[in-house]
Amino acid sequence: MIEKRKMLYDGKAKSLYEADNDDEVIVYYKDEATAFNGVKKASIKNKGLLNNKISSIVFDYLIEQGVKTHFIKRLDEKSQLCKKVTIIPLEFICRNQVAGAMAKRLGMAEGIKLDKPILEISYKNDELNDPFINDDYATTALKVVTNEQLAYCYQQVLEINKLLEALFLKTGISLIDFKVEFGIDKQGAILLADEFSPDNCRLWEIATNRRLDKDVFRRDLDDIKDTYQLVLSKLEQLNL
Ligand code: 5GP
Repeated sequence: MIEKRKMLYDGKAKSLYEADNDDEVIVYYKDEATAFNGVKKASIKNKGLLNNKISSIVFDYLIEQGVKTHFIKRLDEKSQLCKKVTIIPLEFICRNQVAGAMAKRLGMAEGIKLDKPILEISYKNDELNDPFINDDYATTALKVVTNEQLAYCYQQVLEINKLLEALFLKTGISLIDFKVEFGIDKQGAILLADEFSPDNCRLWEIATNRRLDKDVFRRDLDDIKDTYQLVLSKLEQLNL
C-alpha cells in the first residue's frame, strides 16, 4: 500500500510518505542499517519491523507520561502515522555513562557513570558529518532555534531520559546514551520527532554487559536482528 503513495523524503533508515490528511505523514521503517554516516551499510531483514515496533512502544509510553511527540499510531509492521513537522536540524544527545564519541573525544573508558546526565548538541548535516556544536552556534550562527526553544528541548531531553532510564531499568537494561530530534508542527508546537530505537541509543544489559544496540552492527559484535528482537521482547513483556 505504501508504494502507491507519494514519497516526501527518503532517508537512510526511514522514508516519509504522504498521508490522507495533509497535517500527517506515514513514516516507513526500512531494513537498511547504516553506520559512520553511511560508510558501513547492510540490509537486515526485519530490522524495519523491529525498530517500528520498538519505537512505537517507546513513543506510546512517552505520550502516556505527558511528553508531546509527533507519533499518532503504528499502522502496520513497517509504518506509522505521525504528525507532519519541520525537523529542527539539531541532534540532542544525552549521556548517562561515558561511551562512543564521548569516550573517544575525552580519552575516557566506556562505562564510567556520570554524576548527572550530560547534554550535547550536533548540527544535523551529513555533508559536515553532524558536527558537535554549542548553544551559540545553534541560536546565533545557524539561527535554527531561539534561546527559549533550545531551553525547552533540553528540558524535554532530560525528562525523556528520566522516563526511559526508568523504563529500560525495569527490563534489566541500562540506558547509556541516546540521540533525539525535535520538530515544529503547523501550530508552532515543538514535538519529539524521529524515532527511539536501538539505532539511536545505547542499551547495555545489566546482568551481562551485553550491547543491545547499533554498536553490535558498528563494531561487528553480534547479530543485529537477534539483538533488536531481544530488546523488543523485553519491552513487550512489560505489558505497558
Ligand atoms: P556518539 O556521539 O557516542 O556517537 O552517539 C551518542 C548516542 O547518540 C548513541 O546512542 C548513538 O547511537 C546516537 N547517535 C549519535 N549520532 C547519531 C546519528 O547520526 N544517527 C543516529 N541514529 N544515532 C546517533
